[in-house]
Amino acid sequence: MAKVRNRIPLKLLVVGGHPADAFDNAGGTCLHHTRLGDTVSALVLTNGARVHDVVISDGMRRKKQIPQGKKLEKLLEIRSKVKKEEVREACAIMGIRDVRFLTYDDSIFLVREKIIRDIACVIREIRPNIIITHYPYDNGGLADQHALTGQSVLHASWVANSVDSEYPNPPHRVAQIFFMGFPSHVVRDNALLREFSAHCQVYVDVSDVIHLKVEALGKMKSQQYNGRYTLKRSEAVEGSAGLGVGVPYAEPFIVAYSDIYQTLPVSEFLLKKSQEQEKDWFGRVGFLVSKDGNLGRYQRVLNTKHRRFKKE
Ligand SMILES: [Zn+2]
Repeated sequence: MAKVRNRIPLKLLVVGGHPADAFDNAGGTCLHHTRLGDTVSALVLTNGARVHDVVISDGMRRKKQIPQGKKLEKLLEIRSKVKKEEVREACAIMGIRDVRFLTYDDSIFLVREKIIRDIACVIREIRPNIIITHYPYDNGGLADQHALTGQSVLHASWVANSVDSEYPNPPHRVAQIFFMGFPSHVVRDNALLREFSAHCQVYVDVSDVIHLKVEALGKMKSQQYNGRYTLKRSEAVEGSAGLGVGVPYAEPFIVAYSDIYQTLPVSEFLLKKSQEQEKDWFGRVGFLVSKDGNLGRYQRVLNTKHRRFKKE
């Protein structure tokens, strides 16, 4: 993707509840932005070791007794470091070089003043135009660390926009917040989502970088994302979102603030899609990263099909 001349580079900040959330919902979108010359930073709120780690949350389930006190603290610290390194490697693949960790304990995660002020401090320092974070009503908005992260970020965006005697950075107003559309509200798989009425208004076509997202997910060995899961997940999650809008793979978003234009917005893609034949649609969405690999192969498949269609 070539850099666009005269385009003012944007600053983006991704705020995730757990380490992998720094890239696993919106990583393809982030890579598109960095390829355009925008800067993307990521902020992870918790160490994620208690909820998603092969040694701690998974391994200790089978033990008769778990380590106590300082021993457990030390182990949490070690596993937290492992996860940080994995996330840094994964984020680098997705074009995110500035990755920060607040390393809060993920045992009981609540919306509280300290966390809000910490996030606000990072917002005032980075001064992002766009924040990407979890949907505040994720999983019904109840006792869900993703939803509570989204709620904390909303509070923090207000705090960042006011002066603070503890921090020298001037106030900063965020232009737009995009809530990540994965995963719970896409598939209404539990009772908490019964009354859920939000929908994703923006989808980013990430088909050209989905193979890199698969590679990035594979870095998360601490939560056993390496192996066939990454391909299955990409087909089931990004693939499902893409299928809904007519591209092979997409990342969906819910927009926080109504946007303002001089005329009504309609994308080139929608205009093109409105003119196409069904076989074009099926040819496009039928691309499988698990079978076809990267977009180069995808384009070759499409070209072959187009040539064949012309002969018919
Ligand atoms: Zn998470």
